Amino acid sequence: MKKETRNQETGTRNRLVVLGAGESGVGTAILGKKEGYHVFISDNGMITDHYKEVLRNFEIEWEEEQHTAPKILNADVVMKSPGIPDKVEIVQQLKAQKTSVISEIEFAARYTNASIVGITGSNGKTTSTMLTHHVLKHGGLHVNMAGNIGDSFAKQVAQNDAPYYVLELSSFQLDGIQNFAPHIAILLNITPDHLDRYEYNFENYIASKFRIVMNQTEQDYFIYDADDEVITTYLEKYPIPSRLLPFSLRREVKNGACLENGKIKITIDNNKFIMPTTDLSLKGNHNVKNAMAAATVSQLLKIRKTTIRECLENFHGVEHRLENVLKINNVQYINDSKATNVNAAFYALDAMKSPTIWIVGGIDKGNDYSELYALVNEKVKAIICLGVDNTKIINAFGNCVDAISETQSMKEAVNIAYKIAERNENVLLSPACASFDLFKNYEERGRQFKEAVREL
Ligand code: ADP
Repeated sequence: MKKETRNQETGTRNRLVVLGAGESGVGTAILGKKEGYHVFISDNGMITDHYKEVLRNFEIEWEEEQHTAPKILNADVVMKSPGIPDKVEIVQQLKAQKTSVISEIEFAARYTNASIVGITGSNGKTTSTMLTHHVLKHGGLHVNMAGNIGDSFAKQVAQNDAPYYVLELSSFQLDGIQNFAPHIAILLNITPDHLDRYEYNFENYIASKFRIVMNQTEQDYFIYDADDEVITTYLEKYPIPSRLLPFSLRREVKNGACLENGKIKITIDNNKFIMPTTDLSLKGNHNVKNAMAAATVSQLLKIRKTTIRECLENFHGVEHRLENVLKINNVQYINDSKATNVNAAFYALDAMKSPTIWIVGGIDKGNDYSELYALVNEKVKAIICLGVDNTKIINAFGNCVDAISETQSMKEAVNIAYKIAERNENVLLSPACASFDLFKNYEERGRQFKEAVREL
């Protein structure tokens, strides 16, 4: 028999309206259809041919380049895709009439009994999600991964459900949850980002990230960076019932992860996991933290210690995140195009072990460069600004380095770097800015960098 969900008051079939027909929207529509909703999907922009085809195959009604209010305001439940801000008129109207507006994560979690590992933070989500999934999968768990990677969570719940998920969760996904509760939540760090969506109020953004624990109970776990004062201050102010498993590079941790004689030490109820940081395949202090988080989850889920160790040793890393491209004349070229904020660039520079030519710039999101001064003084030999407006970078670092130049072409940036770089040095693309002034997105920026390097 076909499934149906009905509105208890009116007796009519429940209507699910999905706003936005991208990966999470189309996935939600597929799941909604499977669960017996009458589904309508509306996108204010153009829907790609690929997704139109999918919607046709599933006989899901859709519209594009508009939001037809009468077809949306009669919804029983609305899934709003993460890219759509709250201030959009149709969303305001829905909220005013008290229609439930939720995210894909909230919707999909209602239809799976899986145990969920949810990962959020300003930086490191994708890396930690993939790393955690890598360990759990090799440890023998039937585990799916979703978030900004591959098929949406909702689509996987509909078509290929699994007993475990590792989910990368943006603050926009978390804003739209009501009952969603990951069994294991990870909060990697909180630094200012996306403030345009949070009324330029950092407190709102912090609160949004902490929604990851809002429905957790004493049975659930919260893994977080105990060196991040934004996180620890918030936790002191708003205590939570979850079992806390902090990680730290600076201090001893009883239950959780810390460093001891250059080794990662994870303790959970007297059960210890130990591994030298030098054995980690991913370099940099930020990746020690990511590895601590992934290994803590793995230990909680009883993965064998040898498997955890092997997986942390052989994980290849993710494209555009401190990705080693080529060594030419003994100069290492590194693509960190995904570093779209200051904190990510901080950890990239921190990871450099020899003098570095730094390619930086793009659209500044209100950056405060002062936290980079010490690192730039210590590690950066020359700066190449790659943006339409480079004034702020030149003003910030003009006095820190011997050479600073400007260009608006990736090819030229790489050629300049090639001329300046000497043996055993690095050329690092870690822009600390968004890419949209000169590139379609950070992926295109990273690809152009790699192409230019390969053509040297
Ligand atoms: P996200 O999915 O949160 O954007 P990514 O894994 O894609 O995170 O990494 C984004 C950028 O942040 C990259 O430049 C990466 O090297 C850097 N990064 C990765 N992990 C961390 C971390 N724990 N803290 C700070 N920066 C990080």
